[in-house]
Amino acid sequence: MSQKIRDVYMVIGGNGFLGRHIVQQLKERGDIVSAFDIVERYSDVPFYAGDISDQGSVASALRKSGTTCIIHTASPHGALGNPAIFYKVNVEGTKAIIAAAVETGVRKLVFTSSAGVVFNGEDIIDVDERVPFPDVPMDAYNDTKGKAEKAVLEANGKGGLLTVALRPAGIFGPGDRQATTGFYQVYENGQTHFQIGDNTNLFDWTYVGNVAKAHLLAADKLETPPPAPPLSRLEKKPATVDE
Ligand code: NAD
Repeated sequence: MSQKIRDVYMVIGGNGFLGRHIVQQLKERGDIVSAFDIVERYSDVPFYAGDISDQGSVASALRKSGTTCIIHTASPHGALGNPAIFYKVNVEGTKAIIAAAVETGVRKLVFTSSAGVVFNGEDIIDVDERVPFPDVPMDAYNDTKGKAEKAVLEANGKGGLLTVALRPAGIFGPGDRQATTGFYQVYENGQTHFQIGDNTNLFDWTYVGNVAKAHLLAADKLETPPPAPPLSRLEKKPATVDE
């Protein structure tokens, strides 16, 4: 029987909100983990400072740490609104990570995409990953997250690299610097008496600990190829958006 390989993890964007929870969960289950980020915030795991669009920095950190599994959560904030930065970090940066991973013999790459990659402003209800990207992306953030996701999935099998992408919707929980801060600002600015819509709008939120756990499970599952889906599932038509 083949022995299961114990991975050495690097969380890219590991000093961010989600990345930090992933680092902590890996530590708690006894795994070896390092963080790569442009910002240093914590000192409890080995830290590599760098920009993901620099393939050389990423490759050097992967070599020094002996990484076999990358969990890539780095991205500029969706609210930043600067298309050039989104493109540089999300698209070029993700491609640089893929190239560095192949160059250094990394076995696995888990990518944090976003549910927004298939959002075009219309309701999306009961769809799965087969729903196509919209013809006109919602904005530069979601467009570049989608392009990065595509690059990650297309890299599956390249030089033995196994890849997977996850699409969280809104994430909340301890350490959040985006959503909760925004809600507080609305409250502090006395803007709570405004309402957009008729109070029936829905949006998916997931607790950060559960999103982090999903990344660990995805990395674990990359170990063996999934069994072929039953024919009935392949023949099922993708669910469509609410009409
Ligand atoms: P965050 O800003 O807290 O963390 C991102 C981290 O990436 C930061 O520490 C930042 O310094 C780092 N980073 C940014 N650019 C970098 C670069 N060029 N090189 C190296 N590091 C860089 O964001 P988050 O909320 O933790 O989001 C994590 C991931 O989850 C992102 O990919 C985001 O697109 C995705 N996501 C987030 C949400 C959400 O609601 N927060 C929802 C869906 C998807």
